[in-house]
Amino acid sequence: MHGSRSPVSLALPCLTRRTLLGAAPLLPLLWSKAAVATAAAAIYRVGAFEVEPLDDGMFPLEPSMIPAADSEAGRALLTAAGLPPNGPSPEPVNAFLVRRGTRLCLADAGCGTLFGPDLGRMPTALSARGIDPSRIDAVWLTHLHVDHAGGLLLPGGAARFPNAEIVVQDAEAVYWSDPASRSRAPAEMGPFFDTALAVLAAYAGRIRRVTGHADLMPGVTSVPLPGHTPGHAGLLFEDGGQRLLVWGDVIHSRILQIPHPDWSVIWDLDPAEALATRRRVLDRAVVEGLAVAGMHLTNRGHIERSGAGYAFIASPP
Ligand SMILES: [Zn+2]
Repeated sequence: MHGSRSPVSLALPCLTRRTLLGAAPLLPLLWSKAAVATAAAAIYRVGAFEVEPLDDGMFPLEPSMIPAADSEAGRALLTAAGLPPNGPSPEPVNAFLVRRGTRLCLADAGCGTLFGPDLGRMPTALSARGIDPSRIDAVWLTHLHVDHAGGLLLPGGAARFPNAEIVVQDAEAVYWSDPASRSRAPAEMGPFFDTALAVLAAYAGRIRRVTGHADLMPGVTSVPLPGHTPGHAGLLFEDGGQRLLVWGDVIHSRILQIPHPDWSVIWDLDPAEALATRRRVLDRAVVEGLAVAGMHLTNRGHIERSGAGYAFIASPP
């Protein structure tokens, strides 16, 4: 069910380390300054929670990674955003630091070392806030892709967070642990499996697998958002009458996919399920007036309907 692969997902060589490393030095030349906005210093307050983006770096999203964007409509959206019509567009990678009282948790952990020095900056962002990794109580994973879980590991493969419980949906751990998943996946996904398995091994004995909608602590719920990966999940923060959904990888390109939610990214393992999830979450955000943030969104914002798609309205900092 989750192993379906469209021909599109065979384009995964785009994601190789060499591609990302090779493209990175060109990025400042290709992007106007205004178009490159990292997650600026901001704290999203949700009642007593402080949810703070930790900038892990930027990755160059090529239109080939969202194949439907390699079109007139895609080029028009990139041009309107001040980007080269054929891309790449700079997309942020974020982890989030979550504070509540004395409790310190992370939502995801960034890339680690796999993609070179332009990504994997989360540890620097954490230490810039004076926080030693030993103080992190829990890391809530949206899924086990490298750009979310790689930062859990030190360069040698040991656990970066010696006291943290790792929380992940059971379906996610099952998928990456199953040798059959790897044998069905393109060879280029090998490093993704290596990283996921290394994380599960490094934190063995302190991984909490949850199923369905699960309370992670009072006011924090894991919300299944399957399709991108089988156990992909968001985090819903609710406190003091305020709410924020950190939706993981529902969107990889705000510019391209919010107006066109049917434009899948090549890393959606089950594109049809990912599309259904994306539509459902965007609709929910509209209907409930839900504030949203994501691992590949620069800001927190709200969603409105716009034509056949949606619009993202960034909240004031
Ligand atoms: Zn991602």
